[in-house]
Amino acid sequence: MTTDAETPALRRAIIDTGAIGANVEHVRSLVAPAQVMAVVKAGGYGHGAAEVARAALDGGADWLGVADVDEALALRAAGITAPVLAWLHGHDPRFEAAVASGVSLGISSRRQLERATDAGTAQHPAHLHLKVDTGLGRNGVERDEWQPLFAAAAAAEATGRIRVDGLFSHLANALPDDDRAQLEAFDEATAVARDAGLDPQLRHIASTAAALRLPEARLDLVRLGIGLYGLSPFDDATSHELGLRPALRLESRLISVKHVAAGTGVSYGYTYRPDADSWLGLVPLGYADGIPRHVSNRGSVWVNGRVHPIVGRVAMDQFVVDLGEHRAAVGDRVVLFGGTTGHGDAAEAGEPFPSADDWARAAHTINYEIVTRLGRRVKRVYG
Ligand SMILES: *Cc1c(COP(=O)(O)O)cnc(C)c1O
Repeated sequence: MTTDAETPALRRAIIDTGAIGANVEHVRSLVAPAQVMAVVKAGGYGHGAAEVARAALDGGADWLGVADVDEALALRAAGITAPVLAWLHGHDPRFEAAVASGVSLGISSRRQLERATDAGTAQHPAHLHLKVDTGLGRNGVERDEWQPLFAAAAAAEATGRIRVDGLFSHLANALPDDDRAQLEAFDEATAVARDAGLDPQLRHIASTAAALRLPEARLDLVRLGIGLYGLSPFDDATSHELGLRPALRLESRLISVKHVAAGTGVSYGYTYRPDADSWLGLVPLGYADGIPRHVSNRGSVWVNGRVHPIVGRVAMDQFVVDLGEHRAAVGDRVVLFGGTTGHGDAAEAGEPFPSADDWARAAHTINYEIVTRLGRRVKRVYG
């Protein structure tokens, strides 16, 4: 299906696998002796799960993490044999395929524990990490259920059908005191588990934010998601300041350039009319490709060495850039984002390209959403 030998892709996400490896190494050196789990759910946050997984393992990641079992099985189908944990399951889960493929399961309920026990055998036990809710109010076993669930797990472990390798939870990343209260609750859960006869070797609660800023949360392993991709989980720190390298640069080319008179209406609803005669460039990405419609008249892109505003409404497949007096040609390179500084005018900061953070601010969202929503039509290119 690829025609890139003849036709350059309209939309390209260029993914720097070296940056992914370097991000793992950087975080690993910070958190050691804790292990690093590279979180590659949701298609590796839009970067491509298998490719990111390989780059992360090359960089020293010990584990891979995904949301659901299908994502884990896709990694296995791609030939990846590293330890992988899947923690989000449907209402009526079956775990036979996961157990047969050596996928570890995050367990958040009695039903999930029973299904995992059904799937395990003495020869091939189901490998489990029990997940406790310590205050996020999302997935995980509720406090009232800790003791009975742990007792049931210990009984199942005695039959040899399951092995409880880990105990984990997830932080709200609210205020530091809130996170510390969750850590205390996690210690209580650990004590309850040990009293029930379990001996989980891997205790983990930190994702990127806590891995970087809450050393006491690092425990035996940290789950590195957004930081793996070189993006900051914080409002008050850039990738660069955290020693991370953004791995994805979103590029295209102008597919049309025209000169229009001052006052000409641009795109649906004429929400923009240039003040002066202007050059307009057309970029072939739209909301079908994950470009938020909210960046209409708010975001900007790099063209020929300058940052220019996105004007008029972003459409399904395309948007318009006002180049002002700077004439450009069809085929000129456009970089939507991929810069590293973020926070503030990208051009002023001496950074050539807008960052995913700049885009997140323009769209009133977070950098996670900017990269993860990139659509299927965007060709991923690895380098
Ligand atoms: C997505 C996810 C992570 C990764 O979080 P980041 O903030 O991207 O580092 C870690 N743990 C769980 C349970 C997750 O769902």
